[in-house]
Amino acid sequence: MLFTPAIKMDIVFSMIELRGIPSSPGITIGQVFLFLNEKPSVPEYIVPDNALKKEYDRFIKAAEKAEEEIKSLKVSSKKAQLDVESRFLDAHMLILKDPVFLEEVRKRLKEEKKNIEWILYDESEKYIQQLQSLGDPYLRERSFDIHDVSLRVLDHLLFRERISLADIDEEIVLVSHNLLPSDALAMNKRMIRGIATDVGGKTSHTAILARSFEIPAVLGLKNISRQVLPGMEIIIDGGAGIVILSPDEDTKRRYRQLQKKWEKWEVELLDLNTLRAETRDGKVITMNANIEVPEEVEAVHSHGAEGIGLYRSEFLFLRPEGFSSEEEQFRTYSQVLKEMNGKPVIIRTLDVGGDKIIPNLPDMDERNPILGWRAIRFCLSERGIFETQLRALLRASVHGNLHIMFPMISGVEELNQTLDILKSVKDDLRGKGIPFNEDIPLGSMIEVPSAAMTSDILAKKVDFFSIGTNDLIQYTIAVDRGNEMIAYLYQPFHPGVLRMIKMVIDGAHCNSIPVHMCGEMASDPYAAVILLGLGLDGFSMSSFGIPEIKRIIRSVSLFEAEELVGEAMEMDSYVEIDRFVKGWMNERFDFLTY
Ligand code: PEP
Ligand code: MG
Repeated sequence: MLFTPAIKMDIVFSMIELRGIPSSPGITIGQVFLFLNEKPSVPEYIVPDNALKKEYDRFIKAAEKAEEEIKSLKVSSKKAQLDVESRFLDAHMLILKDPVFLEEVRKRLKEEKKNIEWILYDESEKYIQQLQSLGDPYLRERSFDIHDVSLRVLDHLLFRERISLADIDEEIVLVSHNLLPSDALAMNKRMIRGIATDVGGKTSHTAILARSFEIPAVLGLKNISRQVLPGMEIIIDGGAGIVILSPDEDTKRRYRQLQKKWEKWEVELLDLNTLRAETRDGKVITMNANIEVPEEVEAVHSHGAEGIGLYRSEFLFLRPEGFSSEEEQFRTYSQVLKEMNGKPVIIRTLDVGGDKIIPNLPDMDERNPILGWRAIRFCLSERGIFETQLRALLRASVHGNLHIMFPMISGVEELNQTLDILKSVKDDLRGKGIPFNEDIPLGSMIEVPSAAMTSDILAKKVDFFSIGTNDLIQYTIAVDRGNEMIAYLYQPFHPGVLRMIKMVIDGAHCNSIPVHMCGEMASDPYAAVILLGLGLDGFSMSSFGIPEIKRIIRSVSLFEAEELVGEAMEMDSYVEIDRFVKGWMNERFDFLTY
């Protein structure tokens, strides 16, 4: 592993501003520490027949050393109670022991008679490329794990000393092509004040970890690792996704002020934890958190969430180990419910398909997966999987305040069928004398336009709605949410989207059920007042976003929010609405900087 220590810079560079993916909020001004973890150069040569066994033994020994290293990293992460770290390390251990991978290495060694470093390197590259070519963000992240593990073994085979980011003992800003999960896990979090990488996005491990360690980060900068030199001055604005290299004095002054504001703001925000999200004229809004893994519950509490508005249960299924058994699901759901101490927990049933592909499942090779065998459609045809999940949920319901929510409902037939299956699972448990809460509130995600347009019908069947704008916007504007080429069309303030949201809220309110929003639009500060004015009852988002949205809600009245909506709804285009709403918000909130 190579790295370049920070050196004193005498060269004068002109200032450069780069834009990447805002991945963890906060502002940092510091010095570049360039961390180069590119592919190592690996020798390739032929091994004589009589040395093949020794060659394989060398591999096994290096793999054992790597395993020891991972184990000791795991012990330290356990001591520090870093469950997320521990999970990544478990995944690395599984890769090291994967029988298919090990057999392939042995077979190639026998057939090709090449040195083991080369075979290991070439075989893992093959896997990495296969995973990356699938275009699935989850599998892409798994490919980084394979890269990480094979590098660890190669380091031992080639007697290379692995330099740990744990040894960094001065404050720096880490710049790298890609930060491997194990490096991010091992790094000295107190000294790393910011992160900027060429690759990665909001769902990458690095982004997840940066957010949980509260380190400002901008990822997906394409080639920042080739634009910096060690020791160069750098500014990271993680919330805006901006990185400035060699900032001039004026820019530094401006960012120092922003940084002070941000720090003051963070402290002030914590004061809001005990207060309700209540408008100046007394409308109380529910503020919930979205989680993907149970370890996030702590952050849910520390950011003043009233409950969990969306637990994306599919992350229990999208793991290299495959499906979770009923028992494992039961334990996990029960743990979350208990740790939430009676506060509401909305668990969404399995939402796979589209871009969330479950490893090891029968062929889901579809021509149009986003419009295909997804979410509730998948569950209705794979009844065994669905019933197992419902049983686990029902059994866990005695441990807390469980709400169950169904994804991607497109019409009343699907909802009826879903409710029938739930009823039959309940009958079965009742027959067996297994206890569960008979009155679990049930909800439907509204994320398909046909569901939005029939919300008045669906509202008669459930206890609450939650609007999934990530998908609702995608389907309303017919814009693939993951396609960068057409990202400019993905517009939450499109009049079509705002009308759709209004339709859902009206459909629900006419039937006296509440409407929450758990898509990313709920955490967009610029959208908060508009959503309030449209009549939304609750917001659900990643825990860290809650205090800011709460503060906005507490600063306005429902009356002004409705007036803002009235004017915006008269406008013809998203360009006009966007300019109008952002202007209105910027006039009132000086902390909104982008
Ligand atoms: C949504 O579509 O807005 C949503 C919350 O679901 P997901 O992002 O998991 O598709
Ligand atoms: Mg969705």
